[in-house]
Amino acid sequence: MPELPEVEVVRQGLERHVLDSKIVDVDVFTPRSVRRHVAGATDFAQRLRGRTLTATRRRGKFLWLALDDEDALLAHLGMSGQLLVQPAGAADELHLRIRFRLVDGRELRFVDQRTFGSMAISDGGADLPSELSHVAPDPFEAAYDADAVVEALRGRRTNVKRALLDQSLVSGIGNIYADEALWEARLHYARPTDTLRRTEGHRVLAAVRGVMTAALADGGTSFDALYVDVDGASGYFARSLEVYGRAGEPCSRCGTPIRRDRFMNRSSFTCPHCQPRPRRPHW
Ligand SMILES: [Zn+2]
Repeated sequence: MPELPEVEVVRQGLERHVLDSKIVDVDVFTPRSVRRHVAGATDFAQRLRGRTLTATRRRGKFLWLALDDEDALLAHLGMSGQLLVQPAGAADELHLRIRFRLVDGRELRFVDQRTFGSMAISDGGADLPSELSHVAPDPFEAAYDADAVVEALRGRRTNVKRALLDQSLVSGIGNIYADEALWEARLHYARPTDTLRRTEGHRVLAAVRGVMTAALADGGTSFDALYVDVDGASGYFARSLEVYGRAGEPCSRCGTPIRRDRFMNRSSFTCPHCQPRPRRPHW
């Protein structure tokens, strides 16, 4: 699933390629892909015809295109959603769900193999869609307050990884970057948040920003060719991952084999030496 760096790469691509473009027609091929637009696919298409895309914005894993009427075209990529910009006449993708024809003939296409992603119009959502009011600022927003997040973390009765994945506390972090940041900060995922020192809280949040900044510079992490930027190019940060997906390989700091555990129906990867399990684990 794309996390903040992957969604930001897509946003930057949209900024480069479709900013100030006018939509002249919209085809919704898969109504499920606009299921969050409660007025339905016909309304979705009608309201977007003639609109101009005036800004590209993102919070956490959500991105939206501001429209010239102060509404917004909101996108969630889900597991496999792609936003591609294609020249006129390019062959349709197998999993093409929505086509936006632009005034210059190019097309913005929402392609989604597994259809967990969706698009919707957010009324008045140009600056910040109300649909995202429950989503906390991500670590790169001006509204992000690291001191407040650390205090909130320490006030929770959970473990540190579960807290990092909680989008109402800080947004944009998923399984990959949580594991990478915890390794960087030498914290075990099961560490109870109410035992975190302030310095440890700041350490892991700084590690989140550091690893996401590095990932963004590499175009994000692509494991399965499902995550691509608007040109269809894959990111190559996967080769720089320290623990995620590297079970059995030596830790680059100490040589201990990386360990994979089951966690929240997925996996957690740690170095058992650099990130010792807490004496009082919290599940
Ligand atoms: Zn290690």
